[in-house]
Amino acid sequence: MEVLLADEFGFCFGVERAVEMVEDALEVGAPVRTLGPLIHNTQEMKRLEGEGVATVEAPAEVGRNEIAVIRAHGVTPLVQIQLEQRAALVVDATCPFVTRVQRLAERAAKEGRHVVVAGSPDHPEMIGVVGYAPANTFVVSDAAEVAKLPPLHAPLVVSQTTLKLQTFIEVAEAVRAKADAEPEVVNTICSATRDRQDAARALAGLVDVFYIIGGKHSSNSIKLLAVCKEQCQSSFLIETDGEIDASDLIGVKRVGVTAGASTPNWLIDQVVKRLRDIGNRLNVDTQTSVN
Ligand code: SF4
Repeated sequence: MEVLLADEFGFCFGVERAVEMVEDALEVGAPVRTLGPLIHNTQEMKRLEGEGVATVEAPAEVGRNEIAVIRAHGVTPLVQIQLEQRAALVVDATCPFVTRVQRLAERAAKEGRHVVVAGSPDHPEMIGVVGYAPANTFVVSDAAEVAKLPPLHAPLVVSQTTLKLQTFIEVAEAVRAKADAEPEVVNTICSATRDRQDAARALAGLVDVFYIIGGKHSSNSIKLLAVCKEQCQSSFLIETDGEIDASDLIGVKRVGVTAGASTPNWLIDQVVKRLRDIGNRLNVDTQTSVN
């Protein structure tokens, strides 16, 4: 049984960087506190907790002798200041792709222009971005919401990094219809999610069974499962190798594996190892029954 990994899988650049920054912070020897969960993966969060990392919900919960970590989604400038006032040290693990959106919004607001961000208003990344230009920024989930906005002055249109391209294009078009000047449209969508989906799609047609490793409630893992199922009916979303049912692999020649952007390598390695072990065992069983 062959085990094939998708061309793109697992930690995206921003999440990998954030985890590495937390590991470096642990070396300092002070307690490490992340504002909100560092990543959406239960197993990795438990591992980090075991190393001394705890999650807090507000800057006021950070102690004077502790290191505060800003996760990849970023925070508002106000929250950053509050953390700097409380913590012994602040580690800013905001993904550079998110920082770019924050800087663009801040610059446009300073120029007196409106900012329209296509995304989910409640998402932490969006809350952080709005904090850089609170008086000038509107977050809209789709083009229909643009119709409810006031007239827009020389707007900048950007997007949440994980948004679908089609939604962004539609929002930009709707903004154009409401603006007093040609909008500045900057596509700030990060390709990590799409790259993982494209790679999974390319592999799904070649395998008999597909395992997607990721959180059961993670929207990007659920989407990966849907993409794989389009071509491989026997696709399963699992969080750990313990969920693999060996009976699903009887007679299987090729197994595909991918993982969401919050799934650490050590979990992926465990799944691949278990699949190879099962494959070897099934091979021995087949040869024994033939002999
Ligand atoms: S998905 Fe993209 S923007 Fe978000 S943390 Fe990962 S690399 Fe950064």
